[in-house]
Amino acid sequence: MIKEQLAAVETNICQACERAGRDRGEVTLIAVSKTKPVELIEEAMAEGLREFGENKVQEIRDKYEKHPEVHWHMIGHLQRNKVKYIADKVTLIHSVDSLRLAQTIEQEGAKCQRRIPVLLEVNMAGEASKFGIAPEDTLELVRQISVMEHVAVEGLMTIAPFVADPEENRIHFRNLYNLSVDIKSKKIDNVNMSILSMGMTNDYEVAIEEGATMVRVGTALFGARQY
Ligand SMILES: *Cc1c(COP(=O)(O)O)cnc(C)c1O
Repeated sequence: MIKEQLAAVETNICQACERAGRDRGEVTLIAVSKTKPVELIEEAMAEGLREFGENKVQEIRDKYEKHPEVHWHMIGHLQRNKVKYIADKVTLIHSVDSLRLAQTIEQEGAKCQRRIPVLLEVNMAGEASKFGIAPEDTLELVRQISVMEHVAVEGLMTIAPFVADPEENRIHFRNLYNLSVDIKSKKIDNVNMSILSMGMTNDYEVAIEEGATMVRVGTALFGARQY
């Protein structure tokens, strides 16, 4: 089942890359496995997937225990008091949205002696219901984090609005890309702007056309989630 769904997603990724004149190798597929059982993750692993996205700390802890060898991405809102549980386990935290959260990650990174890779989550559409910093505040936060020894800024992330037509989100993806280019041009020490995490089941093809280097796809791979 996952085999066919992965093949379909893979075809779509390749075609979006082709339309944009990009190499398939520039885009990493993150399989968003939140709420899904380990058996399904193992099915995806058998198909070669190694990058998995989760939005709950407890779920990362449980699943990491079963499979410490794959890469776990924290893509959901992260509370400061829970950073300690995943600091030594996550490959990338996509959802840094405040200086205080970054400071906590700095402390926990120091404890486990690693420089934790992070993305800053930007609320491109200004939705009140969403986490993320405002585009105009992003550069300042990047500068503040750049001096931290145990946090490494690797790029930006956004969660676009839920829309019927993915074309409506193109402007947000384009604006995030432009924001990252702008920040890159400042050449801030210890800051990378090489990752753009944008695009989900409904809009990952448009996101790839606009420069996504990571797409976070759940439903299209694993089916609808039951809560
Ligand atoms: C759930 C989730 C996804 C995946 O959503 P789908 O529409 O199922 O592909 C991507 N990113 C974040 C931050 C999520 O919480």
